[in-house]
Amino acid sequence: MQALSSRPPQDYVGRFAPSPTGPLHQGSLVAALASYLDARAHGGRWLVRIEDLDAPRVVDGADRVILGQLQALGLAWDGEVLRQSSRHHAYREAFDRLRRQGAVYACGCTRKEIADSILHARGYLPAGELPYPGTCRDGLHGRPARAWRLRVPQGRVRVVDRWMGPVEQDVAAEVGDFVLFRADGMWAYQLAVVVDDAAQGVTDVVRGEDLLGSTPRQKILQDMLELPAPRWMHVPVVVNAEGQKLSKQTGAAAIDVRQPLAALEAAWRHLQFEPLQAGEVSAFLAEAVRRWARRWRIGTG
Ligand code: GLU
Repeated sequence: MQALSSRPPQDYVGRFAPSPTGPLHQGSLVAALASYLDARAHGGRWLVRIEDLDAPRVVDGADRVILGQLQALGLAWDGEVLRQSSRHHAYREAFDRLRRQGAVYACGCTRKEIADSILHARGYLPAGELPYPGTCRDGLHGRPARAWRLRVPQGRVRVVDRWMGPVEQDVAAEVGDFVLFRADGMWAYQLAVVVDDAAQGVTDVVRGEDLLGSTPRQKILQDMLELPAPRWMHVPVVVNAEGQKLSKQTGAAAIDVRQPLAALEAAWRHLQFEPLQAGEVSAFLAEAVRRWARRWRIGTG
């Protein structure tokens, strides 16, 4: 972290990493715009990575729709678009490395068994994500392997977020040994994102606050794989009238690219800036980059 924070800004590499589960909506545009502006404000590169590992959730053609929307909004990326579906060998390599460290084990538990064992141990089920109780840490007890988990080291993990400030989590206690290779035969997001960010030389991850809770897990993996940790910035997510995060599941509407300025302005205001009222997309983005740099450029202010 220390070495990275003092790097000159021209080393900056940012990325936007949408899952192709549907078109961009106002919520995903906020993450796209924030990461774009931060990269450009640092004179950096801005990459797009399609996170299409979760096959059951991938919608055919959604990747093309997203890329078309980014183009229509003037958010031009650098280099080739990377697709996670072409990266299995890299995830396998990282997984094998962890396995050689003795940091990975097979797990035979179903979701229901995990819930039952927590209920049995505590007498109640905690809200939200269930921490894995470590049932298979010392072996499968004759059951078939379903998933593979990381043996999470004890102790609190601390990360410093540029928007949220310092964040700490006891991953071992609150999350437990998390999954690296899923029961349905897919690489888990946490492993893939860490491997790809490092392979692409990403120095700065700017994304929605809903992923803040994943960041300590990613930091653990970076440390265990001896990969550099990026700087992180988690920006506020957009919620609907019921207070739910906008997503395809909660029925968020696709960005209307016939009105690119309106969509950009709304995302910009959500990022807590005064309206820009630009006449066209290129003028909007040029001014937004200037204002973003004044507020967020590392090493200024
Ligand atoms: N693919 C993830 C999503 O669309 C984002 C992952 C990330 O930015 O780290 O929610």
